[in-house]
Amino acid sequence: MSLPALPWKPTLALKLSTLTVFIALATAAWRPDLWAWALAALCINRAILVVAGLIPRSTLLGANIIRLPQTAARRGEVAITIDDGPNPDVTPHVLDILDEYQAKATFFCIGELAMRYPELCREIVKRGHLIENHTHTHNRLFSLFLPYQMRRDIESSQRALTEICGRTPRFFRPTAGLRNPELGPLLARQGLMLCNWSKRGFDTLRHDPAQVLARLTRDLKAGDILLLHDGSAGRCADGTPLILKVLPSLLDTLKRAKLHPVTLDAALPPAAHNVTLSASCATFPAADPPATNRRCANESNAT
Ligand SMILES: [Zn+2]
Repeated sequence: MSLPALPWKPTLALKLSTLTVFIALATAAWRPDLWAWALAALCINRAILVVAGLIPRSTLLGANIIRLPQTAARRGEVAITIDDGPNPDVTPHVLDILDEYQAKATFFCIGELAMRYPELCREIVKRGHLIENHTHTHNRLFSLFLPYQMRRDIESSQRALTEICGRTPRFFRPTAGLRNPELGPLLARQGLMLCNWSKRGFDTLRHDPAQVLARLTRDLKAGDILLLHDGSAGRCADGTPLILKVLPSLLDTLKRAKLHPVTLDAALPPAAHNVTLSASCATFPAADPPATNRRCANESNAT
């Protein structure tokens, strides 16, 4: 089962990039003596796009959810997202901790691992959490893939997760949050929304849970999307997966701040699908947004 396609239109940055390519090629055709300048323009243009794709929170290349909408923030909601699983040594303990605090989370699972541990995926769903698409192979070069390679990888994961969980993922997170200009239209055709995060603690790299917690909770507020890992988890000095030390403290902090961890589906219900995509693009003029997107134009101001 696939989701209905979402509307997609290029951002201003992508339009300017296309214009630059056109002008450079036209210049090289009409003034061959200027080919070196044209080539330099093309290289600089591509370099800017590549750098934009290396910034997980950037919206230069298109829609990118990095915070929950204002409606969810007003309800005091935050989203805990957990990447790179499922992991049979870590994920069950994460589920127990979440149960203890009656908290819900979104697991961005890797398709190949989901196929290896389908029962664990079903357990995640059974406990009321959400499973979303974090590529099929988690290839570190994903952002350098050609469009057909990205499409094949994303579709494989969609298929696997749908078969295992009985629900088609609505959100996609690329490896390390990195992407390229071709990813946006690909996701839109599959009805997927790109979702990254507002706060991360670099828990795959660090060994001190206090440092990770400090990064996650600095200026913490409603609407934040937090990133942790059950797969590829960093280890504490005693060998404990870092998430198992950080998560209880994080949930305590959220409780004290009266913030409620919810799944992405709860904060961004399917009815708000198109609206939210447009909001994260913020492509509509604030003075006169189309009627169907009026709410999202307001919400984009909150992020
Ligand atoms: Zn990952």
